[in-house]
Amino acid sequence: MPFSSVPLRITVLGSGTSMGVPTIGCHCDVCSSNDPRDNRLRPSILVRYGGRNVLIDTTPDFRTQALRAKINRLDAILFTHEHADHIMGLDDVRPFNFRQKGAIPIFGSEETLDAIRHTFRYIFNEDLPQSSIPNLETHVLDGSAFDLYGLEIRPLRLLHGRGVVYGYRFGSAAYLTDHSEIPPEALEQLGGLDVLFLDALRHKPHPTHSTVERSMAYAELLNPRRTYFTHICHELPHARTESGLPPHIRLAYDGLEITVGDPL
Ligand SMILES: [Zn+2]
Ligand SMILES: [Zn+2]
Ligand SMILES: [Zn+2]
Repeated sequence: MPFSSVPLRITVLGSGTSMGVPTIGCHCDVCSSNDPRDNRLRPSILVRYGGRNVLIDTTPDFRTQALRAKINRLDAILFTHEHADHIMGLDDVRPFNFRQKGAIPIFGSEETLDAIRHTFRYIFNEDLPQSSIPNLETHVLDGSAFDLYGLEIRPLRLLHGRGVVYGYRFGSAAYLTDHSEIPPEALEQLGGLDVLFLDALRHKPHPTHSTVERSMAYAELLNPRRTYFTHICHELPHARTESGLPPHIRLAYDGLEITVGDPL
């Protein structure tokens, strides 16, 4: 096999920007569209391999996403950064704690985990709670690669406006969201990919997000076999936007399943 030796299956749980699509109160063509691919929950993916389920980010839509994708166990969570659209569903991991009778390991940068501790103070409070709270085991990532159930995970520092987020490479796939710029050190780690996810908010420039045009340039530079755009706002109708893209670059959509490392 030319790619990863660990077969991976990725499910896109959400492909939308922070407010989701449709956006509350908006009646634009995309927010009113009948194409289910124009319905975008907040951005997250599930990576399945070797009987394990690894989640990237817990969005405010996590409960709906877990039910839709019929996720029946959760073995780890990788956090990209602390923005609300990436963490606010954390409390909804409790059913997995009950089912699995144990803690769920969570991974992120020092800054991200600090922000999570601050946002969800009750989870990390030393006092014994009166009602159930998520049972988590925190692991701070310093940027070094690590093994997660037999798969090497490489955190990659990306610029998100003035902030720094982690993208993750795992095997021959990489998930990069919320980036305005991919620094050269990260670009160096992104060769030989089968599947690459990139932030592509819209066409118009944005201070903290990539655009369709900018991410097309990244895809051209990195030359993965397949590229999927995510963190998409209501300015991009699925069908019309895709018709302007080359066949190896597609818009992700909620529910999309991708097998990584398979021959074409
Ligand atoms: Zn975001
Ligand atoms: Zn709209
Ligand atoms: Zn963000």
